[in-house]
Amino acid sequence: MTEGQVIDILIAQMKGQFPRDCPKCGHHFATLRDYCLYTIPLESAMVFDLEIGGGTPQQPLGAMALSNCRCGTTLSLTSKGMAPWQYWRLINWAIRQMTRDGLTRQQLLQQLRDAAHQKVVSEPEPCAA
Ligand SMILES: [Zn+2]
Repeated sequence: MTEGQVIDILIAQMKGQFPRDCPKCGHHFATLRDYCLYTIPLESAMVFDLEIGGGTPQQPLGAMALSNCRCGTTLSLTSKGMAPWQYWRLINWAIRQMTRDGLTRQQLLQQLRDAAHQKVVSEPEPCAA
């Protein structure tokens, strides 16, 4: 897998979590793009299963990316619903990448998140039909 493919999988996973509304202020996020433009990302994404040398547990803990709505509420995008085989493919890719490039978990996740964010934001606005 290339980094581009990984980013496409992440974006597809995140897109499946829209439309949604902020539970506090009710702001409507029609698309992932709306969400990326409106919210403020918090730190880097968290992947609970990403430990070098850690085995493959039966039940993945999952991944989560947190952002703050402008009203201050923290919203999350998660790996929930992703096919386990695909999730583990991503984890294994990430571990190889960290080893190869000497990146920390935080650095790699930050890099992926920035790239995904940029790609989502630069996509043309879909027609409102
Ligand atoms: Zn809000």
